[in-house]
Amino acid sequence: MAVSSSFRSGIVLLLICFLVSVSSGALDIVMPAGTPPRLFMTEDEMVRLRARAKDPQWEKQCADLLKEADSCLENVPAIPHQGGQWTHWYSCPKDGGSFITDTPTAHRCSVCGEVYSGYPYDDAYITYMHNRYNNNLQTIAIAYVIEPTGVRAKHIRDSLLEYASFYEDLPLHDRDGNTTLSAARLYAQTLDESVNLCKFCFAYDLVYGDPCFSEEDHRIIQEHLLLPMCETIQRYDMRISNWQTWHNSAVGCAGLLTGERELVDWAINGKSGLMFQMERSVLSGGMWYEGAPGYHWYSFHALYYLLEAAGRAGMNLWNLPPVKRMLDGPLRQLYPDLTFPAIHDSPRTSILGNRGFYEMGYSHFKDERYLPLLTVRDSRDALLYGADSLPEEKGALTLDSYNDDEEALAVLRNPDGKTAVFLDYTRARVGHMHPATVNLLLFAQGEERLAEAGRLPYGNPLHKEWCRQTVSHNTVVVNETSHKRIESACTFFEVGEGWRAARAMATLDGEKYALNRTVVLADKAVIDIFRCRSKEDALFDLPLHFRGEWADLPEMKEEAVSFEAPGYREFREVKEAVSHADWYTVATGASSRIVLQIADAGQQFVGRSPGYQYEENLPMLMRRLSGKEAVFVTVFHLLEGDAVPDAARCSTDASGTVTVQTGGLTVQADENALRITP
Ligand SMILES: [Zn+2]
Ligand SMILES: [Zn+2]
Repeated sequence: MAVSSSFRSGIVLLLICFLVSVSSGALDIVMPAGTPPRLFMTEDEMVRLRARAKDPQWEKQCADLLKEADSCLENVPAIPHQGGQWTHWYSCPKDGGSFITDTPTAHRCSVCGEVYSGYPYDDAYITYMHNRYNNNLQTIAIAYVIEPTGVRAKHIRDSLLEYASFYEDLPLHDRDGNTTLSAARLYAQTLDESVNLCKFCFAYDLVYGDPCFSEEDHRIIQEHLLLPMCETIQRYDMRISNWQTWHNSAVGCAGLLTGERELVDWAINGKSGLMFQMERSVLSGGMWYEGAPGYHWYSFHALYYLLEAAGRAGMNLWNLPPVKRMLDGPLRQLYPDLTFPAIHDSPRTSILGNRGFYEMGYSHFKDERYLPLLTVRDSRDALLYGADSLPEEKGALTLDSYNDDEEALAVLRNPDGKTAVFLDYTRARVGHMHPATVNLLLFAQGEERLAEAGRLPYGNPLHKEWCRQTVSHNTVVVNETSHKRIESACTFFEVGEGWRAARAMATLDGEKYALNRTVVLADKAVIDIFRCRSKEDALFDLPLHFRGEWADLPEMKEEAVSFEAPGYREFREVKEAVSHADWYTVATGASSRIVLQIADAGQQFVGRSPGYQYEENLPMLMRRLSGKEAVFVTVFHLLEGDAVPDAARCSTDASGTVTVQTGGLTVQADENALRITP
């Protein structure tokens, strides 16, 4: 009995193993045939590029690139024989100001003017020197393909040999100067080491066949630079992460270039390889799991090197479904001006900055939705990999309202596409996410109006003290403490006639506190009903940070108010309203404004708060209520020209149901139910 049962479970186990290995989809590794160059351009592509240099559509871009390559070769800086430090150390710790480099050992704050030198500033600057040097290698390599002159190939050969002469002697160091697993040699992180190895591989591959290289040169470059860099990188397994995606690409490209099949297999089929990463790191809607658009593109940039190199070796990784999803997902998450909100550890950037990836995407998939992003074809990827011609008619991008539970994001859009509301109900489970759930962002009248703080360099103390505090967001803070242990769900999402609405509920700190936010986007107003509950008496603060300028402020008390709690300390010029005001106006342009109508009795504080740049000074309004329950009701009237607000009628009945009537809509929200009627 026992034997047969263990036999049966053995069979079951075997079956499970078989199924797992099939579903994990190991890829057959194909090594490139023939002699390089072969990874980043085929012979046919190189012929096409040379033809493009004479084609009116591309000739200016080619000429500019050749000019840039020439100037890189005119004043070649010395390669520092030293490892660089983390560039996130490179900003003013006092005010977050970026540095102006007076000399490699004098770094002047662009805000307060203080000059910093020594460790880690000088060392972080070394990182920039390596980065610049190695970016130039890529430019020179492409110039070599257009016009194969020996001097270009020789510069790349000499540079790689010089790096090979000292790479192995560089001590391992991490961003704190230790030798942890994240430590690298040329840089302070295996992440940066990987980014740079990708650049080396790209430049080396394109000039590999030039007669200036001897067999001995190739041996030295591979054995003393590329392979030791792989060894540095492979020490650190980062599992699901953007780091590991760079590790995979670097090691995979180096493996393809040096003929080391094992490295390629590690990069693609390994425990944390590309196949694993594609299955685990890309959400079903196509966004990278880290919740920050910046990291989405950073990861795609990594992937791109391996997709290209493996593709020319004979492995079409572009066909993996998550790859296309990674191009489709961001099209949903855009503000109307085609920028991404600076949510989580992300800067505010335009999708057009990544138009090169859509050039490649269009070449692979011929998806017409990418065409509106390709009206200007000046990216390097367009030049190297873009289709010969695109359809005349490129159309416009259609942006829709959507809710995605995995992204924990609901986006509401007006039919004219000019107004968008983002309700970010993040659970902040991943390092780059900010603990600020049911956060509201508003894009209207041509700009982000309810603003995100974005990020500062991570080594800067203000990143933690401001950007990562809940109070720098447009959501309720309980007891002046940033959100902890967030559980959240979107419980209502609907697009109706003349309105779109989302409701998200969150609990904090093991259900000690509950936040319940309903946002309705009507044609000319946003209605925001924010209910809060606590098991014990609590302070509820709802800060709102505006991009615009105050107009007609109500009377404020004389004395300044100062707050001590983390994040709150960064508020500036705070004063309290003399008496409760129902209306505030934010001017947003010569003939546009947002009129806030406030229908709760909260205390009102007006001040300034930092924006994307710490020195930015945004108008801020914070309301404060206390008790076991609180409800903040705000109507944002979006007005143009002489239009006057359709003053909302707001009431709360005995059972706690809040009713707001404006613009022909009636919104009724209680703790559980939401009713919207025209
Ligand atoms: Zn400064
Ligand atoms: Zn944030």
